[in-house]
Amino acid sequence: MLDHAARLRQLSEADRDAIQLAQDPQFSRWLAQVTATGGCAHPIHLTGSTTTRDAGTGEILHHYDTRNEPGERLLVRCRNRRATVCAPCSRLHAGDTFHLIRAGLLGGKNVPTDVRDHPRLFVTLTAPSFGPVHRFTADDKRCRPRRNAGRCEHGRVLSCAAAHDSADPLVGQPLCRDCYDYPAHVLWHAYAGRLWKAFTDNLYNHLAARVGRTRTGLRRTVRISYAKVAEYQKRAAVHVHAVVRLDGANGPTDPPPSWVSAEVLTAVVRSAAGAVHLRTPYNWALGEYELRWGVEIDARALRAFGGREGLADDAVAAYVAKYVTKGAADTAIGLDHPITAPDDVATGRLPAHVRALVQTCWRLGGLPELEPLRLRAWAHTLGYRGHILTKSRAYSTTYGALREERAGYRRDGSQPIDNTAVVTNSNWRYAGSGHTPGAAEFAAGVAEDATRSRDLAREAMANEREARV
Ligand SMILES: [Zn+2]
Ligand SMILES: [Zn+2]
Ligand SMILES: [Zn+2]
Repeated sequence: MLDHAARLRQLSEADRDAIQLAQDPQFSRWLAQVTATGGCAHPIHLTGSTTTRDAGTGEILHHYDTRNEPGERLLVRCRNRRATVCAPCSRLHAGDTFHLIRAGLLGGKNVPTDVRDHPRLFVTLTAPSFGPVHRFTADDKRCRPRRNAGRCEHGRVLSCAAAHDSADPLVGQPLCRDCYDYPAHVLWHAYAGRLWKAFTDNLYNHLAARVGRTRTGLRRTVRISYAKVAEYQKRAAVHVHAVVRLDGANGPTDPPPSWVSAEVLTAVVRSAAGAVHLRTPYNWALGEYELRWGVEIDARALRAFGGREGLADDAVAAYVAKYVTKGAADTAIGLDHPITAPDDVATGRLPAHVRALVQTCWRLGGLPELEPLRLRAWAHTLGYRGHILTKSRAYSTTYGALREERAGYRRDGSQPIDNTAVVTNSNWRYAGSGHTPGAAEFAAGVAEDATRSRDLAREAMANEREARV
């Protein structure tokens, strides 16, 4: 039989670390902290204290200090939205996104429920074509079946008779990489934010023209709010899903004028997106590019409250939330961090198409005319500089407000603390981040338990619903 020390030697580093951790007298308190972070994979370690006093009397209502905590630290969530970085935090973020989008569609979180009667659309804007790519085909249809398609100047056949399923690595790859317009693709990404801005500006202009008013007159009666997410398609081009809502001039509390219906707004979205065109600055080597939205513009009205036609608003909120947890890393791209040298990717395991896009970012990023686009700093996102989720101010609540609400509920079990009558003094310092190998195993266990109880709760709810029907 092995003695204790010999057995420890046979264990992995993580196991040894975990055993040591579990023997610590403060282990249960540490585990409670990890549980409070939902099993966050890369928690932030803080040291410090916070004191809450009654604003009138100065009496201390609450004092918390990390001095008595394990390692004199408090662990807090990393709050990363990407599932590949931290699965538990990304789930929480997706939940917040769902509530943020949903509140803008159905009310709640300080948005009046009347917004469900305002014109609301689900809009998808795409990038234009930068060259033919292999595509996913349903029902045994062929990819690009063209008889007499001929060959490009590089000798490649410009048709494809194959049927690709969605897992086929060829999907999204150009038929000819030498013909594919890589500069146009990365420049389009670099201008995507401006293309969106031009689109939303156009919305007012086109609506004004359609209803026979001036733009200024129109702005006095309506306000258009939105929340949008960016997603990388298989061809590694971003497209945008957005929820667009039309309110009266004062935002969600203000009913929209009766002369704007969801149908009118749908037509206006199409014409406003179709009319956008921007130009890149002239460069002697590249010339200049005209940038537009792709011809596939989708705009659909959400189902009116109690109605049968149109998309269900809850489904749209869930659909949008799903995209927010997908970073560039989980999609066609596979790059997690900014790139510091083009050689980083020359030998990588990236698909050749993505590698070519990264290298194009690097090359164009060196041109003085294009410097403001910061293409090298954003080579890992293929030139796209936007956030994954952006929303206009009046759309609904914020992530900050949702977090505060959650923290308030947790503190005393039910109600958010009324902040008007108390004064809080906090003094916090960053003391590190992450887990040791053993701690990471415990955290993963906590995260797994949380997922399992959520699944069980969902199942119970589904059963209950079924029983009621
Ligand atoms: Zn985390
Ligand atoms: Zn093909
Ligand atoms: Zn070619």
